[in-house]
Amino acid sequence: MELREPDRDFLRFLWWENEKIQEFRHNQVVFGVTCSPYLLGAVLGYHLSHVPKELKAMANKLQKALYVDNCVTSFSDDNELNEIIVQSIYVLAEANMNLRMWYSSQWSYIPGKLNPADLASRGCTPQQLLRSRWWEGPAFLKGSPEPWPNCEFNVDEESVNSELKKEKVLDLPVKTEVREWFEKFSNISKIIRVLCWVLRFVDNTRKKLKPSSEVLDNLEKKEAEKVLWRMVQRKSFSEKNHSIKKLLVIKDNEGIIRVKTKIIERDDILDFRFPILLPTKHHLTTCLIRQCHLTNCHAGVQIIAAKLRERYWIIAAKQNIRSVVKNCIVRKRFAAKSLTAPPIHLPLDQIRESAVFEITGIDLCGLLFINPKAKVGLFCSLALFIVQYIWIQ
Ligand SMILES: [Zn+2]
Repeated sequence: MELREPDRDFLRFLWWENEKIQEFRHNQVVFGVTCSPYLLGAVLGYHLSHVPKELKAMANKLQKALYVDNCVTSFSDDNELNEIIVQSIYVLAEANMNLRMWYSSQWSYIPGKLNPADLASRGCTPQQLLRSRWWEGPAFLKGSPEPWPNCEFNVDEESVNSELKKEKVLDLPVKTEVREWFEKFSNISKIIRVLCWVLRFVDNTRKKLKPSSEVLDNLEKKEAEKVLWRMVQRKSFSEKNHSIKKLLVIKDNEGIIRVKTKIIERDDILDFRFPILLPTKHHLTTCLIRQCHLTNCHAGVQIIAAKLRERYWIIAAKQNIRSVVKNCIVRKRFAAKSLTAPPIHLPLDQIRESAVFEITGIDLCGLLFINPKAKVGLFCSLALFIVQYIWIQ
């Protein structure tokens, strides 16, 4: 198969001539290299998809049955087989391909009693299996094909259908929710960091900048935070939103919706005078509250509300904070009551009136490290012990 002149550059190779390495080009399609099966498939596909209408059926059959340079398929009768052979030889001759080595065989149905494969599926004893000489196959296979059993294959539809499994179709409505990318994370700092890297990537590809430092700086984080709140506000507060209508809000020059509080005249930071408006029960709001709860040593509702108010105005904040605090596992563990048992009554000997040393007992008095030289010390500690014992009783 000859190659077009401009395509020959793709098939260059090195070869030596007169002990000098030189560059050559193939003039013909190379077979036996990695791309050869693809080239063959592409050529066959091209020719089979450009056949006239009357040959379409043959082309479709051949295309499905071809595997690299072999074709295995079946036909209902000899006439169809011969027709397809003639047609496919004609079509592929155009591609200078000579289809040859055709081979066909007929198949016969063998009754179950003579079929050795059925023996195992029916079940048999080891003796029966040995007697059947299953591995040798049926005896008639060794003779000429003429006397082979060739009975008609009649399907008993009724018995086949009785084997069919009865299926029950259950129709369940499945709700597919589209999850936001940040819902994968539960840490607000992590969400901001991820967004930082994404923004940096976008920036770098647009401006084609060289990669900057490997760490994120504060300015980038602040910028990412702004992008995040803008995104939340755009999705949560539409023009017709009732919760936003009750509030006096303004949009700052960076497009962030802020609440106009009564203390705008105060000499304070912008975030405190104009806090950023955030929706309630939003994943990011919940993450923000959780972070505030953790950084303030598992603080309660009041503290978190006051801390967050310094920068944000969360709608129905206390309700939202309460649910976050309620779900904190650490807080739950500390708030748990310790196990208690009902007090038991004292034995009679300990509560009745009695003379000194009338009731005595031995108690464990623990390890005593005695210095053999310090005889005085030993005496004192034992005496102290006795006094204590009497006193307690
Ligand atoms: Zn907590």
